[in-house]
Formats: sequence, structure tokens, C-alpha cells
Amino acid sequence: MSQVKCAKCGACSAVCPVCQSSGQESHTARGKLHLLNVLGVAEASTEFVDIFSACLLCGACSAICPRSIDISKELVNARNSFSSVAGPHGYEKYLARKLLAVPESLAGLRVLGSAGEKLLGAYLPKSSGLRLRLAMFADAPSGQPFREKSSLPSMQLEDTKTISWFPGCAARYISPTSLESCRSLFANHAVTLTFSGSLACCGLADWAAGDVKGARKKGRQNIQVLEQRDGPIMVSCASCLAQLQRYPTLFAGESEWLQRAENITSRLVEFSSLLEEHEVVQPVELKTKDSKIRVFYHDPCHMRHNDQIVDRSREQLRKSGNVEILELPDGPRCCGQGGLFHIAQPEISGRIRDQLVADVLTLQPDVVTTSCSGCLMQWQQGLAAVGSKVKAKHLAQVLNKIKAT
Ligand code: SF4
Ligand code: SF4
Repeated sequence: MSQVKCAKCGACSAVCPVCQSSGQESHTARGKLHLLNVLGVAEASTEFVDIFSACLLCGACSAICPRSIDISKELVNARNSFSSVAGPHGYEKYLARKLLAVPESLAGLRVLGSAGEKLLGAYLPKSSGLRLRLAMFADAPSGQPFREKSSLPSMQLEDTKTISWFPGCAARYISPTSLESCRSLFANHAVTLTFSGSLACCGLADWAAGDVKGARKKGRQNIQVLEQRDGPIMVSCASCLAQLQRYPTLFAGESEWLQRAENITSRLVEFSSLLEEHEVVQPVELKTKDSKIRVFYHDPCHMRHNDQIVDRSREQLRKSGNVEILELPDGPRCCGQGGLFHIAQPEISGRIRDQLVADVLTLQPDVVTTSCSGCLMQWQQGLAAVGSKVKAKHLAQVLNKIKAT
């Protein structure tokens, strides 16, 4: 492996949510790059693998690094050299990826609900990150996954435009109501969102685990499906968007697939951009002086650090005229979900999440919202863990609710 030219300036330590929670220098980008340079993956012990799993791939370090080191890429390359079940919680991460390879299985777990939690939970140790995920399924109402065809009544609008949609498997199989809200928001504006049931998982979990081959396989399937239509592709999950944008890098060495990947990425549109483009959000008429909804918008790290998109979603909320947006004094923070990080490092993930939830609850929000399925699940669990009545909802659900007030 080539030596990465880290200046050891420490700028990354100040922004790393994992290091801030654990207090360990080895958890910073600087620490991990140092280990890679002096030891290399050939000497990977269980401890070494554990240190490399302690990264959310949030991108905060790369965004601030004066040497512009793509730290996520370096760490994923290192993880690629580990066995798929290496390190603490390795088998659980492996199992989660297997589940995502057949996203319909998520629907099965959702239908199983609390019975599934009891059944599988009996075999998992108390510290297991997967145990946390199973609790999530127990909370989800049983039901069918989100359908390709609309269940909304025909709007009878002329010049209806059909736009391709990448809804993401977590939303499709675990929280289909958020997708119903996306579809409903656009349907009133002569936009029909359509997707193919043949879409695969975006491949983020494989890529984050270092399984580049698995991520490419899912990428090829998605490219083939998305090529079947022209025009924009709306993505309603920030994590999926980040992974789809990564496809050209994923296929860098394969000229034909690289070109096809670039064509797809040039068509990607983030959810709130499409709202803006079609002027979907309109001011609502306030009924009483104090009826503003107190909303905390959580910025998914994948948008905050990779795309530097911070305000577009807030702007859509503001446009409704019925919202007071709440902010933390120290600015947006990571929720600790990080793809499979919550499974690999449940304690650190839980600490990051619980501190954020506690700080946000002091702002007394009516609702917490975001546009990433992973963050949403993390928030739902965090709020449930402290018995809060505050709910976490996808931005589409909140905008729909504001429209209805
Ligand atoms: S910010 Fe970049 S150069 Fe500075 S210590 Fe971190 S990885 Fe190294
Ligand atoms: S990607 Fe995020 S969690 Fe990982 S080392 Fe960088 S700042 Fe820390």
C-alpha cells in the first residue's frame, strides 16, 4: 500500500465524532493513517481491525484536511484487506450485508416485528449492534413494502412529468410511509415519481465494509435499471445519494462501466433540490399566532461534508412559513449511525447518538426531521430510548404535515 502523506497537523482530530466520543487518538484519521503507514494491513490483528471499524466514514476529516486526503477511501481500501467476518462484531456486519443483498428480507423482519426481535435477539450478545437494529423492527408497524406503482388517486393533471426515483431499500422496506409522503408531495405538482422494483441496494454497506466487489455488483445492477429511462433521478436518501455519486470512482478502472456510471451520476438530483425546482412547497396560511411548528433539522453527514449541502432542506421548511427551525449552539452534529458503524461499534454509536438526542431535546422540538434513512432510524431509536414523545420523521412527512395544518 502506498504511503499516505499525512502532515500530522491534527485538524481532523478536532472534527472527528468518534475521537471526540472515545477520546482515543487511534480513532482519528491521523491515528489510522499512522498505523497504516507503520504497520500496513498485512499485520492486521483483531485490535487493528477494530480500530479501522471505528470510523463513520462521515467525511468530516477529509473536508478539513489541508492535504485533501480522501480518508474514507484509504480506510475502505484497508478494510478490503480484512476477512469479511474479522474483528469484534464482524459476523454481525457480515449478516447485515447479507440481509441488504436481499432487501426484501428487511420487509420480512418488519412483518415479524417483535417476534423477530425475540427470536434472533436470543442468539445475540447484549453488546450486539444488531440487537439495537432488531429493536427498531419491533417498533415498526407490520405491513407491505412500498410499491412501484402509486396507490394515490389519479390527479388528472395535464402535462404530468414522470421522474425516475431511487427510494433506497431501507425506506422502501422499513419506513414506506416516508416514501408515500414523497410521492404525495410531488403528485400535487404534476410530477409522478416512478421506480423499478429491480433496483438493488445502493451498495453503501458493502463499500463501507471494504467489499468493493460486492458494491460494484450492486452498482452494475442499478446502472442497468436506471439507464432504462432518461432524465433526472431523484434520490430521497442522503446516504444512497452519496453512494450513487461514488459510482464513477467505483468503476474507475473499467472504461465502459465508468462512462455508464458517469451518465447516471450526472442525472442525480437530491430530494430538496427537486422540491425547489418544482416549487412544491408553498407558504401555508397560519391559523393562530403561535401555531409555528418547532422543527429540528438534522443534517446527514453525507450531505454536510461531501456535497456541502446544508441549507437547501431548511430553506424548504422555511418556505412553508409555518416552521421555527431550531439549531444547536455548536452547529450540526453527526448522529453516530454511519452505515454499519452502529453494528461494529454499538457503544460509541450509542454515546454519540444519546448526547445529540439529549442536547436537541433541550431545544424542545415538536419534531426532528432529516432526509437520510440511516439517520432517521438512529434518531427514532435515540428518542425511543429516552422515552421521548418527540418523533423523528423524513422531511417529506413533515412537509406533508405542515401542508395539512
Ligand atoms: S487533517 Fe489531514 S494532514 Fe492533518 S492530521 Fe488529519 S489526515 Fe493528516
Ligand atoms: S470519516 Fe469521520 S469518523 Fe472517520 S476518521 Fe474521519 S472524521 Fe472520524
